[in-house]
Parts: sequence; structure tokens; C-alpha cells
Amino acid sequence: MILKNLVVGPLATNCYIVGSESSKEGMIIDPGDEAEVILSNVKDLGLKIKSIVLTHGHIDHIGALKEVKEATGAEVAIHSDDAQALQEKSVSTLLGLSYPAPPPPDRLLKDGDSMDIGDLHFLVLHTPGHSPGCICLLGEGIIFSGDTLFNFGIGRYDLPGGSYSQLVNSIHTRLMTLPDDTAVYPGHGPDTTIGTERSGNPFLQT
Ligand SMILES: [Zn+2]
Ligand SMILES: [Zn+2]
Repeated sequence: MILKNLVVGPLATNCYIVGSESSKEGMIIDPGDEAEVILSNVKDLGLKIKSIVLTHGHIDHIGALKEVKEATGAEVAIHSDDAQALQEKSVSTLLGLSYPAPPPPDRLLKDGDSMDIGDLHFLVLHTPGHSPGCICLLGEGIIFSGDTLFNFGIGRYDLPGGSYSQLVNSIHTRLMTLPDDTAVYPGHGPDTTIGTERSGNPFLQT
């Protein structure tokens, strides 16, 4: 598996480029900003991007969506409960950032859907709490956790549509049930593992 992490934008968002070694098909997770950097990395990796997957609809994860979509022609996928975020009005206000209006989604995701990129297969886990339509992508021994779970942290739950009880419930029932050695690639900050977070994440201790 090809996996490239780019840290983009003023909120240091992790944008991931994931690709199949064999088919050279790829997906981009959370093109938050710096479209030209994302696209030049895609080119260097020699990938044909099939999908752009948004872990949720916050502006720091979709700021470069318009340009990346236009350049790649890839489908844009987001959970239905966050799809309204891809509207011009909501985009220019949240978090005080402003970006070109993103294109509407091509595919609305729900829990249990699969994202297939060549020989790579990822399962969509709906993990509401940071936002209503947050998802994680699980497959190939790793999970992309968006702003749901961080290295020794959890996502904010004070933004519109957020819920602390939902967030903690999502983490406990959907993520902490995974094997310890599952690598976690979050929406911000360094990667970690489920086992590390299970034993040491201060927000998950009872
Ligand atoms: Zn967020
Ligand atoms: Zn974020």
C-alpha cells in the first residue's frame, strides 16, 4: 500500500494519499488546503485518484476540495449527515477560514459502506460526535480516524452538531473494539495505535 501524509493549512490538517501498489489507483482523504502540494504529490506517486473521501465536512478538511476534484475528476464521498457542509454558505464562516465553494458530493456514505481502491478495501464506520457525519475508514490494518480520535486526544465536541456523549460512545464502541496493533492515522497530529490510546489516552480512562 502506498500511504503519504501531508500536513496542510493553518490548522495543520493531515491529508492522506492512499494508493494501490499494483493498480496505481488512489484516494485522497481530507484535502484540507494546499491543493498544489497535494496534486504534485499525487503526480509523483504516479496515482490515478478514484475517490476523494472526507472524514467530515469541516472547512479545514475540505479547503482544497474544489481544486483537487477539478484536477483529478475523482468522486467526492462524504457521510450524508455532513453533506450539507459542502455548501458555500457554511464553508466561508466556520472557524474563520474562507475557501472556494466546494463541489457537491458524488457519493453519500453510510455506515458499513466500502471504499475499494484497486486491491485495497476500507470499511466506512459512522462515528458521530465531533460532527454528525464523521466517519472513520478501516482497512489494511489501519484506521483513518479523522477528528474523532487523536494521539492522546479526542475531537472537539463544542462545534455545531457536536456531542460529547456521542463522541465518546463512538470511540468506545467502534474504535476501542479494534485490535491493539491497528495503526491510527488521525485528522491532526501524529499517528498512533489503538493499543496506545486504549492504555494511555487521558480522555478515555474511566
Ligand atoms: Zn473537524
Ligand atoms: Zn480538523
